[in-house]
Amino acid sequence: VSQRQPLVWFDGKFITGDAPEAPLTTHAMHYGTAVFEGIRSYATADGGAAVFRLPEHLERMRKGADMFGIEFDIERAGRAVLDTLRANGHRDAYIRPLTWMGTGTIGLDVDPLTQHLMVATLAKVVHLGGARTRLTVSPWKRNPATSLPPLKLSGAYVNSILAKREAKQRGFDEALFTDDKGYVVECTGANVFMVKNGEVTSVEHRDALPGITRDTMIALSGAQSREVTLHELLDADEVFVCGTAAEACAISVLDRREFGDNPVTRELAALYAQVVRGQDSRYAHWLTAV
Ligand code: PMP
Repeated sequence: VSQRQPLVWFDGKFITGDAPEAPLTTHAMHYGTAVFEGIRSYATADGGAAVFRLPEHLERMRKGADMFGIEFDIERAGRAVLDTLRANGHRDAYIRPLTWMGTGTIGLDVDPLTQHLMVATLAKVVHLGGARTRLTVSPWKRNPATSLPPLKLSGAYVNSILAKREAKQRGFDEALFTDDKGYVVECTGANVFMVKNGEVTSVEHRDALPGITRDTMIALSGAQSREVTLHELLDADEVFVCGTAAEACAISVLDRREFGDNPVTRELAALYAQVVRGQDSRYAHWLTAV
């Protein structure tokens, strides 16, 4: 099936993507009271497709929804994801579910508000662009977990947008958040890893989103997970960032530090590419057939 306008699942029915359905007083538009996910499906060798780690993504979304008191039915959302992929005939796709607070008050008490769920699937994935990414330390600090939990709450992403925009204005591709003590937190939409003397380390930080790709990379590489200083990162042999959209993305430059070849990152990225496409039976349990 190929449509000019992909269909979007909205509160249980399909609508055409660009139809303006949300009222102008939508609470989420004014205050960011929404929760989203970024999920991917991949074409598999049997001619079908599979969603990678769908239950884990929906579980994280449920945690975010709980923060606002949004009712979130994982089973229903899962069905909506699969139905939308099928309706659009998408195999390699980026999947964007969003649940949000609608109308009922313009105040901050969310109890009177309507609640909504949509799922869009996109045939093109917005990722970091080039094969290797130029990274810069952001002058902005990450939302501290004591102010905003590291979940995919829409409003929290203005922090990422400020950092991304500032990094781009200085000619870099992506921003790296560090904390006041000099520890690495994460990027605007990806978690951070380093390789030193062949040993893979995953950056751990309480303000960072617990990434599902991060978890996958740890399982695939046997990486240790611990706090890492910026100083250590600059001293590493390889640095890569990872996320659902970015997959594993090697860093070529971190401010004035240039990184050379990245054989460990390359090998891990290749393994990841096989795993998500169902070419490695050891990890078949991470795939949900479409
Ligand atoms: N950190 C942030 C801030 C993100 O937005 C993302 C993308 N969801 C990630 C890390 C990576 O998470 P995941 O691997 O679950 O996509």
